[in-house]
Amino acid sequence: ADAPPRPHVVLVASPSAGHLNPMAELARRLVARLGLAATLVTFTGLSAAGPDAHSTAALSSLRDAGVDTAVLPAAPLEGLPAGARVETALFELIARSVPRLRALLRDIGSAAPLAALVPDSFAAAVLPLATELGVPGYLFFPVSLCLLSFVRRAVELNDGAAPGEYRELPDALRLPGGVSLRREDYADGFQSSKEPLYAQLIEEGRRYRAADGFLVNTFYEMEPGNVEELRQAAEQGTFPPAYPVGPFVRSSCGEDAASPCIEWLDRQPTGSVVYVSFGSAGTLSVEQTAELAAGLEDGGHRFLWVVRMPSLDGEHSDLGKTRADDESDPLAWLPEGFLDRTSCRGLAVASWAPQVRVLSHPATAVFVSHCGWNSALESVASGVPMVAWPLRAEQRVNAAVLSEKAGAALRPRAARADGLIGREEVAAAVRELMEGEKGRAVRRRTGDLRQAADVAWAPEGSSRRAMEEVAGRWKAAAFGGRARGAM
Ligand code: UDP
Repeated sequence: ADAPPRPHVVLVASPSAGHLNPMAELARRLVARLGLAATLVTFTGLSAAGPDAHSTAALSSLRDAGVDTAVLPAAPLEGLPAGARVETALFELIARSVPRLRALLRDIGSAAPLAALVPDSFAAAVLPLATELGVPGYLFFPVSLCLLSFVRRAVELNDGAAPGEYRELPDALRLPGGVSLRREDYADGFQSSKEPLYAQLIEEGRRYRAADGFLVNTFYEMEPGNVEELRQAAEQGTFPPAYPVGPFVRSSCGEDAASPCIEWLDRQPTGSVVYVSFGSAGTLSVEQTAELAAGLEDGGHRFLWVVRMPSLDGEHSDLGKTRADDESDPLAWLPEGFLDRTSCRGLAVASWAPQVRVLSHPATAVFVSHCGWNSALESVASGVPMVAWPLRAEQRVNAAVLSEKAGAALRPRAARADGLIGREEVAAAVRELMEGEKGRAVRRRTGDLRQAADVAWAPEGSSRRAMEEVAGRWKAAAFGGRARGAM
């Protein structure tokens, strides 16, 4: 007789590489190592351009790994205020996609017992579907536990506020695990209760409380204090349990085998290169680009710099303001003569590098990073210490975790009146990480974290055990649910 169908997990990812990639990796492991079946669902309709090439590639490689994928048709997005932020549009898109997702879930559930519904941290609006269908609902949190603690605190501080009213957060917050944040370091949207996004983020955070638990893309050694604090909160029943089950780092398999970056790195000495990249969307102003260039030039180290088009108006996250100048050449914005003067020891590439391969290359010594959480985990997983250069979103929280707690980064501060990080700070931070005493401690600590990241998913590793515990509960519920005829 045929084997009974495996219990089926449905993961719901918002359409950005930063969410899709780690969830794809989670789905892959649920299928390959935990005996579950999985479908990764995502959305279209947020940008006119549709899913980017990297997301499309991530999805198609999943199908080869036995994970089903589904892309929900675009839900109509009319009625949004002009100039709405991309996060606002995303919350709307997801809320309006619930009926389609319900239909999909019923479809999947008619062929196999549903094990769990796992939306990501922007998609908590679909959690009620888990209750409706009688399956566990777990939220995938693609960023640090520290950020989850921050959101929890922000929501608690708004408990008891009159409906529709939102309270300002204090100027500074000391979070469990010993991370202190000042207002300017709060994640975008949390700085001022007057911004419309603030209310949306608090409401999203309120929805988190309906989750049966959180699967967090981090691992114990990265933020032990936050693991302990959230464990206590779960024991006291004040917050759903949070399981550190990462790091989910993309494998380099999908990246271009032949790349000018790798060919260039192959020709550089071991541990000599500073890799500079600000993620899939980070942009610097023209002035800040010039300071960074001068810092790299004055510092004298070898470098590989992924250069993006500069931000010309200081704003790039408004809906509809996608870069119209994508075809123009970002390298043309570098200071006059910079490329010629540094050609013997530096490589600047436009827009994109195969980052996982770059970070794991023996020539790479230091990563000047915007601290997107995926980049941070990729860096740690390769044992590469960082210069933390956060730009937006929750990157300043990540930078605080990395530099103040995890000890995997040094963070230069803008010391100048114009708010730019000057060439001296750039050169000094890189020099310290390459040659200094403090830098040596950061390098050693990053090496320790690399080892911890390596064993987190080995048999008996902490993340793997946490995920097995949760998966065991899902399976029990799936088969129990079936016996009760819940589906
Ligand atoms: N990435 C890459 N090459 C680049 C820039 C980014 O491969 O030139 C990948 C990077 O490895 C990471 C993701 O894109 O997996 C960026 O995610 P992250 O959370 O670091 O930042 P975001 O782009 O979401 O700000």
